[in-house]
Amino acid sequence: MAHRILIIEDEEDLVATLAYNLEREGFETVGATLGHDGVDLATGTPTPDLILLDLMLPDMPGTEVCRQIRADARTRKVPIIMVTAKSDEIDRVVGFEVGADDYVVKPFSVRELLLRIRAVLRRAQPIAQREDALSLGRLRIDIPAHKVWVEEEAVRLTALEFKLLQTFVERKGRVQTRDSLLSDVWGMEADITTRTVDTHVKRLRDKLGPAGTYIETIRGVGYRFQTEPSED
Ligand code: CA
Repeated sequence: MAHRILIIEDEEDLVATLAYNLEREGFETVGATLGHDGVDLATGTPTPDLILLDLMLPDMPGTEVCRQIRADARTRKVPIIMVTAKSDEIDRVVGFEVGADDYVVKPFSVRELLLRIRAVLRRAQPIAQREDALSLGRLRIDIPAHKVWVEEEAVRLTALEFKLLQTFVERKGRVQTRDSLLSDVWGMEADITTRTVDTHVKRLRDKLGPAGTYIETIRGVGYRFQTEPSED
């Protein structure tokens, strides 16, 4: 089914251009040139799959439109890409204060926008439907979103632990020496020793619980992620 994109933007030429290009790419579009119309369309039926929201609208700020959309249970999780003319507003827009999922800065290319839209839609999809979620026995990994599940239970990893796991998984079945892990994961910092690798692998295994055994110790050499991790 085609994804439906709501465009809230007061520049009618831009709305027309975006609608034309998005529809050519197989999206359905609906447009609003005022913030309050945008909120009505967002919270009405059918709910859009994604909202492109201009920051500067004639009747109300885009940030307020975003807050109202986020405050409504029906649209709380609909991804919002903010369109802004000023790059210095980005931190505020994408940060906690407003809660947009991504942004583009005017002027932007249609190609860039399409990439953002596809990435945001992919992230918003339930894990079970995603092609980029890797399934390895009891372990599921969503590399772009940096998320990990063991038996459908989310596991919280630090950025470093995630990078370590990703490195293992990308080379599963192949032995990774401590030195190669050090340079690939830590980037060869002078004050880090190979014992650091062991400490982090242990911590990662602990966090992965029943999937921790997928990382095997190869005595005297390093580690290896099992070629075919089993579910038993
Ligand atoms: Ca505007």
